Amino acid sequence: MPIPIDRLIRSRRRSLALIVEHNGSLTVRAPLRTPDSQIHAFVESKAAWVARKQAEARAKYVPAKKYVEGEVFLYLGKSYPLRIVSSQRPALALEGSLRLSQNALPKAEATFTRWYKAQAAEVIGARVAHYANLYGFQYGRIRISSARTRWGSCSAKGTLSFTWRLIMAPLEVIDYVVVHELVHLKHRNHSRQFWGGVAAIIPTYKKHVRWLKTNGRLLTLDAK
Ligand SMILES: [Zn+2]
Repeated sequence: MPIPIDRLIRSRRRSLALIVEHNGSLTVRAPLRTPDSQIHAFVESKAAWVARKQAEARAKYVPAKKYVEGEVFLYLGKSYPLRIVSSQRPALALEGSLRLSQNALPKAEATFTRWYKAQAAEVIGARVAHYANLYGFQYGRIRISSARTRWGSCSAKGTLSFTWRLIMAPLEVIDYVVVHELVHLKHRNHSRQFWGGVAAIIPTYKKHVRWLKTNGRLLTLDAK
């Protein structure tokens, strides 16, 4: 069976290129006048490579949330099912399950994002204060970002930023990211001294680095 081309983009380029997208679909970029037959022959000649890349992409792909009854959402490393309930305030509440007000359904993603951000500000704020008090770190303010793969950062002025997506991770992983950024207040690099500072507070930190590498892509609501 020939490999389906999901998107063919012609432009003023010189060569053919195959791109396997994050959801496993195949995009082909082609010069303006390359005949279709030549494009298909090229794709077929790369069939094994395309199949391998598509299998890899599909295995890693996290589909966007659909906001349907029973669908699970991560919070502090645990999965909670969604229950759609008659109108309530606040629009989203965690009571064993995540209860979403029916009238918030049309803006479910925004409602979830707002809820996650509020939880992140509270929980991460408390963890930063805890470790800063315990180990004598002086920090500026805490900012909650929407970064996708940058879990935290530390500015020259001592502002600590954390993505709200972290609140989906287990608390011990959040603690590692918090300590990582606090130690940056003293070591503004990833030197041996820096990692020594992290290990002095969280001896098992490598486990959490690995957890983020493996599971970080799950900490999302959409498929981007
Ligand atoms: Zn760092």
